[in-house]
Amino acid sequence: MSATAPKTNLTINPARLWDTLMETAKFGGTPKGGIKRLTVSDEDKKVRDWFKAQCEALGCTVEVDEVGNMFATRPGKRKDLLPIAMGSHLDTQPTGGKFDGVLGVLGPLEALRTMVDMGYESNAPIMIVNWTNEEGSRFAPAMLCSGVYAGVFTPEFAYSREDRQGIKLGDELERIGYKGKHKAGAIKFGSMFELHIEQGPILEAENKMIGVVTGVQGMRWYEVTVRGQESHTGATPMGLRKNALLGASRMIEAIHQVGMANLPGVASVGLIENRPNSRNVVPGEVFFTVDLRHPDETVLDKMEKAYQEALPKIAAELNLELEEKRIWKSPAVKFAPELIKCVQQGADQAGYKSREMASGAGHDAAYIARVTPTTMIFVPCLGGISHNEAESTTLEECGAGAQVLLNAVLAHDATLG
Ligand SMILES: [Zn+2]
Repeated sequence: MSATAPKTNLTINPARLWDTLMETAKFGGTPKGGIKRLTVSDEDKKVRDWFKAQCEALGCTVEVDEVGNMFATRPGKRKDLLPIAMGSHLDTQPTGGKFDGVLGVLGPLEALRTMVDMGYESNAPIMIVNWTNEEGSRFAPAMLCSGVYAGVFTPEFAYSREDRQGIKLGDELERIGYKGKHKAGAIKFGSMFELHIEQGPILEAENKMIGVVTGVQGMRWYEVTVRGQESHTGATPMGLRKNALLGASRMIEAIHQVGMANLPGVASVGLIENRPNSRNVVPGEVFFTVDLRHPDETVLDKMEKAYQEALPKIAAELNLELEEKRIWKSPAVKFAPELIKCVQQGADQAGYKSREMASGAGHDAAYIARVTPTTMIFVPCLGGISHNEAESTTLEECGAGAQVLLNAVLAHDATLG
């Protein structure tokens, strides 16, 4: 931090944040204590209206862009500076929890309420963003409208997305009154901080409160088909078999080892189809998917090479045919070093144990990082579970996240003064 940084002692109110989380959890609340708030549904409209009213009560101007992204801005002392944004998403999975995304909008609301209560004036304007359709559950793909903001998708592409009933996102935006007049990407900000639950078990396992997120892992998906020969299990001697499932099982082990050899990289086979899947037939064909991830693209290249070299060897040993192709690639994202520093400083200032980590999941911040300096803050979630009604983060953890967010934003603001 620069020497001119003000000694601010702004302390957020964890209980107020918690009440807000519980209050908005009623918009789409499920009997099991989760939330079903699909994007641009009636429930989503209710929480949007609520959010808009709360922000306006704090003196913010709320603007909506053409794909429903909401931007609430509180003016700063200087009009020549772009806002510092804090944002995430208010939509949830069909059996979603109370914290995924929501904490990243209501945490900022608590931070802003604290600033307003204390009459604190920032140099730059402070903005809260609610991104439309992060989840991708009702309308695929995920992170759709932060993607539109970042120029990854066109607004027309977003409008044309259909849900299972054949209803288009564009029509739903109009119906709930959130197809705004501003062009996507036209409402500018100079930086963005996204507070989010970790959605993994690392912080909890290490008893750390804050994840200082340095980027998002690169991800690559592949599809593999192994072909052998269907034959009678009783009549085909072991030495004469072309067992596709045996080959696949050795390949799965090899893929696991690619992950183990490249930690913190991960390598997974999550879907497998065995044909004909009959107890007395030597399997003739197996299809499976491969998911490789690593924060560093060069290591990911290495993992891909190791995986692609291992499979043909195994296939050859067992007289099997192999078909393998990459079907999707999402490059690793590196967050802005100057913002990561502010988060680290914010965690230290609040006295929380922290660790640097890469995000294993995709987030709005990953797309926004393509156009604006961006970073993320993680807090633990019980058992690393999310996309589940049982998703659980404590009052203390939510409060810690909001406090570090506020500290980080003020630290960054001080560098702009
Ligand atoms: Zn999320």
